[in-house]
Amino acid sequence: MEKTVVITGASRGIGKSAAFAFSDAGYGVCINYLQSEKEALEAVTEINRRGGNAFAFRADVSVEAQARALVRAAQERFSHVDVLVNNAGIALDRLFTQTTTEEWSRVFAVNVNGAFHCCQAALPDMISRKKGKILNVSSVWGMVGASCEVAYSAGKAALIGFTKALAKELGPSNIQVNCVAPGVIDTEMNGSLSDADLLCLCEQTPLGKIGKPEDVAALLVFLASDKADFLTGQVISPNGGFVI
Ligand code: NAP
Repeated sequence: MEKTVVITGASRGIGKSAAFAFSDAGYGVCINYLQSEKEALEAVTEINRRGGNAFAFRADVSVEAQARALVRAAQERFSHVDVLVNNAGIALDRLFTQTTTEEWSRVFAVNVNGAFHCCQAALPDMISRKKGKILNVSSVWGMVGASCEVAYSAGKAALIGFTKALAKELGPSNIQVNCVAPGVIDTEMNGSLSDADLLCLCEQTPLGKIGKPEDVAALLVFLASDKADFLTGQVISPNGGFVI
């Protein structure tokens, strides 16, 4: 039976790279997007042109009904979902004292509630099959905190706690829950960083460079594989040594 994955926020950046990496590893791939329909459909076309099995589904993961529809669409298309990657996320660069309640709530709605909604939708079937993998995409800022990114850091820290607790609850059901906490990765999320900012970040990174989406994608595919069956509740941080 074909292995299958739902990747939230897979129209761009890390999620898109993960869609290609999972397809290359033989998975049927559900590419979730919200606004970037053209990019999502192009990824589907390219994956299927290469002989893969992908489809795109528009859903705002912060909305419970849409997250449930996303997972249901993948279950109907593939008959089951083996892996859920909670990758969709938004950033917020703002002094804490200037962060509005609406901004704080939106960051949590997408970055934290999105994972909650998708897990609630995907888990009943995984539990009854006694098989499944949940991968949550946090951030180094969820581990060590970032100035002017308090809402983002707090939401990413919440995903780490969510991962650990859920791993304990789901272990007896043979479901692994792990967290990937990337350092700075070259995606549109960091599009506002100047060349000087990027140089500074590279200088602070022992490996002397920022990461590529493919660096995170390869780790996600490994964590989803049978080779990682004894790994659960862990936070793995592809960050070039930026945080050790
Ligand atoms: P990105 O290039 O900005 O892509 C974000 C993705 O999330 C897009 O596909 C976007 O879809 C989707 N998305 C946003 N809100 C959504 C919603 N409400 N429902 C569904 N999808 C939604 O970001 P990225 O750098 O690839 O980041 C991916 C994940 O990695 C995020 O969780 C981010 O916090 C985390 N991360 C990134 C870095 C980094 O340096 N880039 C570092 C650590 C962690 P549409 O465009 O279709 O709306």
